[in-house]
Formats: sequence, structure tokens, C-alpha cells
Amino acid sequence: MSATQTAPKPRGRQFFANPGPTNIPDSVLLACAHQTVDFNDSNFIEVYDACVAGLKRVLKTEQTVFLYTGSGHAAWEASLVNLLSTGDTVLILESGHFSISWGKMAQDLGIEVQSVAADWRRGVDMAAVRAALAADTARTIKAVCVVHNETATGMMIPVPEVRAALDAAGHPALLLADTISSLGSLDFRMDEWGVDAAVGGSQKGLMLPTGMSFTGVSAKALEAHKSSKLPKHYFHWTNMLQRPLKSFLGTVPVSFFYGLQESLRLIEQEEGLENVFARHSRLARAVRAAVQHWSGNNGPQLFCLNPGRYSDSVTAVLMPEGLNADALRQVALKRFNLSLGGGLGPLGGKVFRIGHLGDLNEPMILGTLATVELAMQVAGVPHTPGGIAAAIASLAAA
Ligand SMILES: *Cc1c(COP(=O)(O)O)cnc(C)c1O
Repeated sequence: MSATQTAPKPRGRQFFANPGPTNIPDSVLLACAHQTVDFNDSNFIEVYDACVAGLKRVLKTEQTVFLYTGSGHAAWEASLVNLLSTGDTVLILESGHFSISWGKMAQDLGIEVQSVAADWRRGVDMAAVRAALAADTARTIKAVCVVHNETATGMMIPVPEVRAALDAAGHPALLLADTISSLGSLDFRMDEWGVDAAVGGSQKGLMLPTGMSFTGVSAKALEAHKSSKLPKHYFHWTNMLQRPLKSFLGTVPVSFFYGLQESLRLIEQEEGLENVFARHSRLARAVRAAVQHWSGNNGPQLFCLNPGRYSDSVTAVLMPEGLNADALRQVALKRFNLSLGGGLGPLGGKVFRIGHLGDLNEPMILGTLATVELAMQVAGVPHTPGGIAAAIASLAAA
């Protein structure tokens, strides 16, 4: 093919294996394509109320939910500006790119950031969290921020252990949990785990387009909100409570709610939330079985070295030393129309990520894994061939 010729347009479906945004089920896409309605119309309010109730069931909370037109970053910001004042300290449990980004946001908002450093391949040491809380005898830490599922490294951080650390220290700080890439994929229990603000987004486990996010908010957090002094307007929970829908300043993005109604129906009625978790776990184990198999012959390996914390929604794969993950991703994308996630922050070029959350089944996972193996062969990446057989064995035994 000469340089002036354009590459042929690939046929067939793109296999989309990014860890967010994720595949949108056809029925959700169709539901989103709803004609405009007045958001104060009683027919819409019925849909809206049902969606908020459903979101609460998925968050496992009976407390308050506020929603925002904006991606997950908007809900991150809402959780900080509604609960804190300039000069307050937050304790960030480092887990990877997303924990760092949330911390940077806090810093830009005038919040002091204290971090519990962590080996990203093993995850934060809870003893270090307990020590940081115990050392804070002046109680300057107002909130602890944890990313439940660190999408950049493929690691799940056990939120109940963070709660236990706070309780053991008798520390009154609020517990903020980012559940953007875990909600609707991994078990998350806002009320039982004593989470004060749970941050979620539309485009990952909830299988919706990008652009809506929300926070579950505890009664304790609503109380703390009353004395928070950081500037806010669009995100202001008090302003929201005065609106008819008790959320959203301005126009409500109605199409999201028709989509959310359908995705909640798929999650809760067609499949069942616990079955959704079981499916994610089953598919995740197959992905890890393939990667562990490939790792022989100096092949790529699981980035996460802590089996108790493997993420069931995303797997980060560390390339062999000296090989570029993005070159492999380009082969997968350009030649085989498989889209994989790239490495984020300092992991750029070093890892690629296989998203296995949302609207996925065994054939899709096997197709993705087979194509990764194909791309490795084409790109000359060393590995032990036969990862697919390992994945099949894992799925057959599941
Ligand atoms: C995707 C993601 C975010 C960022 O959300 P956006 O919707 O991209 O703004 C934050 N935290 C985690 C854990 C994520 O996976």
C-alpha cells in the first residue's frame, strides 16, 4: 500500500476493551434516543425518581444522591467542594493515576493534601493508613479519599479496611470513596461500609454514555456540608435541595435517565446485581489466567502483584522491559480493530489495560484475549502462546 492510499476501513464490530467508557448495550442506546421532554413533566419525574431509587439500590444506600451533568471529575469536585474548606487536610490513599488526580484536584481547590504512599503493584498498606490516622492527634484530616477500584493499575482497594482503620483510631474524618469503575461491576456497599461520599459515573459499569455523574452522600456528610466554605455554585448541595428534583441546577439531561432506566432494568431485573458481580469475577479470572500464562518466556505479566486485591473490572498488563505497550495497542487497533486501554501517568507505554466491565460475555472476552495474543505474535512481543486455552479452562471450570 502506498503512503497516499488510506488504510481500508475495517469490517465487523470493533472489539472495545477499554476500561471506560465501556460498551453500551443496544437497548440502552435506543432508550437514550428519546425525544426531548420537559423535565418538570410528571411522566419524566416518574422515570427520574425510579432511576434515583435504582441508583441508591446499586450504591447500597438509603441516604441522599446528588447528580451532575459532567463526567466523573464533576462528582469528584462536588464531593470536595461540598465537604471541605480552604486549608482543610485530606488524606489520599495512593493507588495510581486516579488517586493522584483526585489529590491534584483537591490541591488546586485550596485543600491541603497528605498522602499515604504505596507501591502501586501491591496497593496501600493498611498499617500505614492506621499510623497516619493515629498520628493526626490534632484531627486536622477532615476526609480520607480512597479509590475503590484503581482503573490505572487494575487493583481493588478494600474500603471496609479503610473504614476499620478510621474506627480503630476513633478518627472523625469523612470517608470519600471513588466507585467510578467499580459501581455495577464489583460489590460496593455505601451504608454498610460507612462511606460518607461515594463518587460514581455513568460510562463504566452502568453502561451509559459519558457525561453524567453522581455522589451518594451520608447524613454525616450532609451535616459537614453545612459548614464547608469552599466556593461552589453549580455543585452546591444546598442549592440542589431547593430544586424540584433535589438535584441539578439548570437543565436536567433527560436522555441519560431513559438510558439509566434501561441499564438498571438490565442490571437488576434481567441479570440481577449479584449475578452481574459473579459474571465480572468469572471474566476477570479468565483474563488473569491468560495473562499469567503469557508471562512465561519473559512475556507480559499482571501489573498487580497482590492477589487479594485483583480488580474484577480491569486488568493492567505490564510489558516486558524495553517494549512499548502503545506499539502493541496500535497493532491491535489498526490491524485487528481491537481497542485496548493505555497506561496512564507514569505507566504510559509500560502497561496496556484490558477492560472487562459492563456489557460483556465469554465470547467477547475470548475474542479480545485471542486478538491480544495475535497482536503479540505479529508485534514480536515474547510470550508463552496458549493463553486462550488457559482462559477457556478457567471459564469452563467457573
Ligand atoms: C474513569 C475514572 C475517573 C474519571 O472519570 P471521568 O468520567 O473520566 O471524569 C475517576 N476515577 C476512576 C477510578 C475512574 O475509573
